[in-house]
Amino acid sequence: MQELEERIQSEGTVKAGDVLKVDAFLNHQCDVRLFDRMGAAWAKHFAGKHITKILTIEASGIGIACVAAQHFGNVPVVFAKKAQSINLDGDQYTTTVYSFTKQKEFPVIVSKKYLNAGDHVLLIDDFLANGKALRGLIDLCKAAGATVEGIGIAVEKGFQGGGDALRADGYDVDSLAIVESMDPGTGEITFRH
Ligand code: 5GP
Repeated sequence: MQELEERIQSEGTVKAGDVLKVDAFLNHQCDVRLFDRMGAAWAKHFAGKHITKILTIEASGIGIACVAAQHFGNVPVVFAKKAQSINLDGDQYTTTVYSFTKQKEFPVIVSKKYLNAGDHVLLIDDFLANGKALRGLIDLCKAAGATVEGIGIAVEKGFQGGGDALRADGYDVDSLAIVESMDPGTGEITFRH
């Protein structure tokens, strides 16, 4: 998506440790019109799919997913919660995710009320790096017996390999911008096309 690439080029900053900061429009201040056009792009890509629910992970995925849902017939958006501890009372699906930005593992939960067998799920997130967050969301869908119909990502850092591994496993991953390389010294960012 050319508009997203241009915003990343003009407003993104490359930090050490392979971190791209796009706080001006995605991760702190939210450009809702951009989110709307991102939702339209995913709706076009996944047009043949029957989506009954969007699943994301808190926090940055929530705003994007809620705006995008309007392009999928206003299906419910569920966000997996990052929990302090695992509660084993059986009313929730639980997995653990290693956080790229926090560099630690944490439990992630979703209530059994909101993810069911029979759901056809579109996963949405802001960033795809090594794929750990998405693997966690896929685990939750598997536990619920729900079908993952596709994955919509705003920014994939292609050089970290998570997206290609998911594609190799058969998932339909639609990343609107794929960063091929980024240099914290010069700030140069290149994209895969
Ligand atoms: P993964 O689990 O694929 O390794 O990393 C994806 C998750 O980590 C996303 O949910 C996102 O919040 C965060 N993340 C990974 N890389 C970046 C990055 O370069 N910038 C920002 N802002 N978040 C990132």
